[in-house]
Amino acid sequence: MSEPRTPSRPVIVIENVHIAPVTGPEIPSGHIRIEGDRIAALGAGPAPGAQGATRIDGSGCLATPGLVNTHHHLYQWASQGLAQDATLFEWLVSLYPVWAAMDAEVVKGAASAGLGWLALSGCTTSSDHHYVFPKGRGDLLAAEVEAAREIGVRFHPARGSMDLGESKGGLPPDVVVEELDEVLTATAEAVDAYHDPSFSSMLRVAVGPCSPFSASARLMTESAALARSRGVRLHTHIAETLDEDEHCLEQFGARPVDYMEQLGWLGPDVWFAHTVHLSDADIGKLAASGTGSAHCPSSNGRLGAGIARVSEMLRRGVNVGLGVDGSASSELTPLAGEMRQALLFQRARHGPQALTARQALELATLGGARNLGRADELGSLEPGKLADLVLWPVAGPFAAAVPDPVCALVFGPAPPPALVLIGGRTVVAGGELRTVSQDAAGRAGAAARERLVRLAGERGVRAARHVQDK
Ligand SMILES: [Zn+2]
Repeated sequence: MSEPRTPSRPVIVIENVHIAPVTGPEIPSGHIRIEGDRIAALGAGPAPGAQGATRIDGSGCLATPGLVNTHHHLYQWASQGLAQDATLFEWLVSLYPVWAAMDAEVVKGAASAGLGWLALSGCTTSSDHHYVFPKGRGDLLAAEVEAAREIGVRFHPARGSMDLGESKGGLPPDVVVEELDEVLTATAEAVDAYHDPSFSSMLRVAVGPCSPFSASARLMTESAALARSRGVRLHTHIAETLDEDEHCLEQFGARPVDYMEQLGWLGPDVWFAHTVHLSDADIGKLAASGTGSAHCPSSNGRLGAGIARVSEMLRRGVNVGLGVDGSASSELTPLAGEMRQALLFQRARHGPQALTARQALELATLGGARNLGRADELGSLEPGKLADLVLWPVAGPFAAAVPDPVCALVFGPAPPPALVLIGGRTVVAGGELRTVSQDAAGRAGAAARERLVRLAGERGVRAARHVQDK
């Protein structure tokens, strides 16, 4: 009688590579063995028993876990370069009427370009926070899910929402907000349709009312109840600007973190975008409750919002991940570059020991995985975890002048990845997308922009580069 045969899984072996696993010591010249979609082994020197495997020579490269993007608005690819000199509130008020014209075609093109761009900077898992659902414009969530499937990145869309229009004291015009019941029904449907909680999932859904100044208290609390009944995570924008602080004090008699606490919105299943303006007590509340933060330094700089207290949050045990935020507030920002931006912001404020290159790498990987509730699957290179990894060529003719590969990656401009694997599948090789045509993805983004500007123009809305041009 013969033994039942287990189906053979493709084996990839990467050798001669500097490995920065994020957890555990670095390996200056080692190997990584991948079986199917998982990391099977890693260690120093050449890989043992690699006959029959696909062998990749990682000479001159640094291997890191794939980067995790924990805050984004993919649709904003179609509205980059607008309201260039605006504060957050001015920028939002200028752009809401433009976004009101978007449809599924705009979202599909924007998401294709946006996710392709992220993969090209080493991102293997991306969240997205889509919160504008104008009536009768097609299935916007389905459009971005389709784009993510085509590009091949792990995708965590938050079904966002706004129900607090201008007429009810909110910031957005009424034309871009939804009724609370519609939101809850659509959000539950999104979870049912797409959320896959399994290990190695490519698609998980979160629940994401947009912000305290665009979502009512009832929408916040009912969204939290819905998310918790379905076992999915919660995401929103908090403490991004001082304007928001003032708005919350005026409208709710509480600053943003206190207000979120009152609404039951602190907990290990919650991660907030920005958290720039936090008091010591606010940081204590995030730490004690296990609430995570998505730090988006380029966007905060672009909008003049401020610098988040990242090194203090880390010191006090708050989990911090990185996010590029929407492309319209951080044009063409590569996720890898946010490591550098985060490091420079903290050092500019607190001195050169405020954040190390390796801490910045951890924010972009394990910190992100924790924000998305996936630290057991993603965020570090360890046997049993998913084979989401990036090879960075850090020993090119110029880069070779920096002897520490992690310093080269974080301190310098990150080079285009030599290889991006997601679940063992090649998504980027030689600095080019391999799952879809890179040119087509880029053109889809440009076409989405043209279409959005045209659709907005048909409604008499001008997409202005500067708020004062209006
Ligand atoms: Zn945002």
